[in-house]
Amino acid sequence: MSSKKSLLIGAHVSIAGGVHNAFQRAVSIGASTFQIFTSNSRSWNEKALSNDECELFDQARKDSGIDVMVAHASYLINIASSTPKIFYSSQKALKDEVVRCQQLGIQYLVLHPGAHTGSGVEQGIGNVARALDAVLEAVPGQTMIVLESMAGQGTTLGGTFEELKEIRSACAHKKRIGFCLDTCHMYSAGYDLASDGGYEKIIKQCDVLIGLEHVKVIHVNDSKTKLASHVDRHEALGKGTIPLAMFELLVNDHRFKDVPKILETPTDPVMELYIKEIAMLKKMVQ
Ligand code: ZN
Ligand code: MN
Ligand code: MN
Repeated sequence: MSSKKSLLIGAHVSIAGGVHNAFQRAVSIGASTFQIFTSNSRSWNEKALSNDECELFDQARKDSGIDVMVAHASYLINIASSTPKIFYSSQKALKDEVVRCQQLGIQYLVLHPGAHTGSGVEQGIGNVARALDAVLEAVPGQTMIVLESMAGQGTTLGGTFEELKEIRSACAHKKRIGFCLDTCHMYSAGYDLASDGGYEKIIKQCDVLIGLEHVKVIHVNDSKTKLASHVDRHEALGKGTIPLAMFELLVNDHRFKDVPKILETPTDPVMELYIKEIAMLKKMVQ
């Protein structure tokens, strides 16, 4: 039984003014965890964080009491690509992402598996596995790379549990590879979380294929689009195509008790939506 106090719930928050500010922003919305980008810039060449930034982060962590942290890798990264220039710059950028997570003590780095852009699923998966192993080999430590379930748009990999499983199976460094379920993406990919009994059926399927023990992060989003649309458009909880009852099942699911649940709903700069949604989810906990 989870209690209201132990619900591990948070949101994607801004790092404006420095990565350490994520803690105070998370606390201000009633969150007990959070997700950030570890870099604000959109360029390929990101440097490591300074000692000062790391110290501020550590201090803010102690002050906040928040202990489970998630980073999301840059959307530019595509390690599924067969174009050498894209593949190698993606691999390098991913390596820098893992380095920054290690510096900050962030446990989970969420990554979109990438898009094969025409070279085919098998080759794409091979590219992803090769890059993941190279990066995890180059950067030892505790940070896990957590592959996100995708909406299955275009040539994007990871729209099915089967593909996610195949990627991890192809890697040598499996211990540091987990999964992130995104409720919006799953529904858009064709997993009917809205139907009667759908949630339980899909989580069972997920367990059989990828193992629930490997699910390390859950993105809690409603979807603007219909089932199997293969379009990735997040919506505020209760405003989209996934019924609120599904989110109630999710926050009461003891199998995910220790899994950080992260909102990526379309909030405003003052995070009013996050505040409302976190309060609502906490209220749903029985
Ligand atoms: Zn994502
Ligand atoms: Mn997501
Ligand atoms: Mn998305």
